[in-house]
Amino acid sequence: MNILRALYELIYPPKCPFCGRVLEKWEDGLCALCGETLPRTGPGDVREVEGCDVCLSPLWYRDGVVEAVRRYKFRGAAGHAGVLGGLMAECLTERWREPADLITWAPLSAKRRKERGDDQAELLARRVGELTGIPAVAVLEKTRQTGVQSRIADEEERRANVAGVYRVLPNADVAGKRIVLVDDIVTSGATLAECAARLRDAGAGPVAALTLARAR
Ligand SMILES: [Zn+2]
Repeated sequence: MNILRALYELIYPPKCPFCGRVLEKWEDGLCALCGETLPRTGPGDVREVEGCDVCLSPLWYRDGVVEAVRRYKFRGAAGHAGVLGGLMAECLTERWREPADLITWAPLSAKRRKERGDDQAELLARRVGELTGIPAVAVLEKTRQTGVQSRIADEEERRANVAGVYRVLPNADVAGKRIVLVDDIVTSGATLAECAARLRDAGAGPVAALTLARAR
């Protein structure tokens, strides 16, 4: 470890993304307790999303995962993309045997991205890409700002909220491509279904949705 990194870690000690505890030297990425107790999904926990061949998530959206996602999205803990994306990459390799041509994400609108400084789904997708060797490519754009999906309780309304707001970028080539589509969480599946529909319209092959966590 070089000296700058050692200094940095002295001032900003790495914390567990799930419980916020400062990590011990021997703990890598997440604390030992969370490593043991995270609410992990099993391979048989199949979730269906319209237009997607599979929808995979390593974790259930409950307990410490809820706080971790909130911290990750809204409180600038983007450094956690490394650990969170790692869990997603592991889940993808274990449960989706198909080869994939590219990995992409459900993007924020340009306005929201500017406010947040980063697109958190993109950071996760890029991390999964790094770990799996699948190229991460921006393929979709969100053409207008919508109300936050997680604040809408009704499923019909969620669908209406995202209808027609995504489109495939004009220079993106997705025809015949096998695509991994990343988002942070899946609740009603409306966002992923909408993105998958646009990819299919553009001629995409199989689409595997991949999120960090899944709400029941
Ligand atoms: Zn922890």
